Amino acid sequence: MNAPLQLPALDEIRAHEAEMIDIRHRIHANPELAFEERATADLVADCLQRWGCEVHRGLGVTGVVGTLRAGTSTRRIGLRADMDALPIQETSGKPWASQVLGKMHACGHDGHTAMLLAAARHLAATRRFDGIVHLVFQPAEEGYGGAKRMLDDGFLELFPCEAMFGMHNGPAKPAGKFIAVPGYAMASSDTCIIRVHGNGGHGAMPQHAVDPVVAASAIVMALQTIVSRNVPPLQTGIVTVGAFHAGEAPNVIPGTAELRLTVRAFKPEVRDLLQQRITEIAQQQAAVFGARAEVDYQRRYPMLYNHPKETAFCEQVVREWLGDEGLLADEPVTGSEDFAFFLEKVPGCYVFIGNGEGEDGGCMVHNAGYDFNDRCLSTGASYWVRLAEAWLKPRG
Ligand SMILES: [Zn+2]
Ligand SMILES: [Zn+2]
Repeated sequence: MNAPLQLPALDEIRAHEAEMIDIRHRIHANPELAFEERATADLVADCLQRWGCEVHRGLGVTGVVGTLRAGTSTRRIGLRADMDALPIQETSGKPWASQVLGKMHACGHDGHTAMLLAAARHLAATRRFDGIVHLVFQPAEEGYGGAKRMLDDGFLELFPCEAMFGMHNGPAKPAGKFIAVPGYAMASSDTCIIRVHGNGGHGAMPQHAVDPVVAASAIVMALQTIVSRNVPPLQTGIVTVGAFHAGEAPNVIPGTAELRLTVRAFKPEVRDLLQQRITEIAQQQAAVFGARAEVDYQRRYPMLYNHPKETAFCEQVVREWLGDEGLLADEPVTGSEDFAFFLEKVPGCYVFIGNGEGEDGGCMVHNAGYDFNDRCLSTGASYWVRLAEAWLKPRG
């Protein structure tokens, strides 16, 4: 089989490609979980320093921010990558596969980090822009809200940005093509724990007990009506009961039952509606059976909103570089992403870069066989550079 064709990239970025791929492989072989990205942050900070960035560490525990200035303008943008791995045992069989038992870069954050590093190196060496670029390497994207932690630690006070941009690889999409969906592009992600308190007893004498299994079962069924009967038909909502735990023995009615839900929406008003109806249904269904439901609704990641003007700008950057064929049309995805926290505060856009198809990058993220496609590294880095140079174009 022929080697796959090279994807488009800036020549100067291509010149350092082998070295940047080596960095990606080093990060891949040494994955670190949320807020433990110490070696990764050391490597990132070391590279940034060596290449001439101002480096700030410790925001969001392990976050690293590199700053580059050029010219006299005070215009400023943030480019963000994530650094954390997942608790998965890798099976890719690649020479650079994880050397850490039970941890792997199964979402390509090693690739995201390497792409932004490659861009940093180029921007630091050339400085063909007028303004300030903040290179943001955040921890803990996978469920722990590292972006929010950086914001809580004062990221925007220290590094004000007029716009922020993010990028994620997209398996099963043509390698090196870009997707930018304007508006609500990714769903909010909430968790809800419902504890149903009944009154335990003998399985042969149910009349003396309040059975939480029956009450919780009724709740599960009634929850199915929220999306079909309460959410407007042209809107999207997802209510999934992923866990139902109750009891041990066949002849014992347990005292409690627990349901664990994941809840997704694309609009704030739908998110509010889902929370309200889940709470009402759980409490009132339980009451019908003489049980009591305790509802612990946890708002986790907000919906990711791509601001229209910044999204159009990103599309234009790709179009001027690769033509219309550089862009893929796509729909919002029901997954979630904590870059949404940044986009709640600052306008910007989160794009996807196709990771390839079939053997060449088609394995889904969070799969034990997944690997970031090295062919995309220089292309993604070139996008970052073109975006920064276009946004901070010298005037006059
Ligand atoms: Zn992920
Ligand atoms: Zn990811």
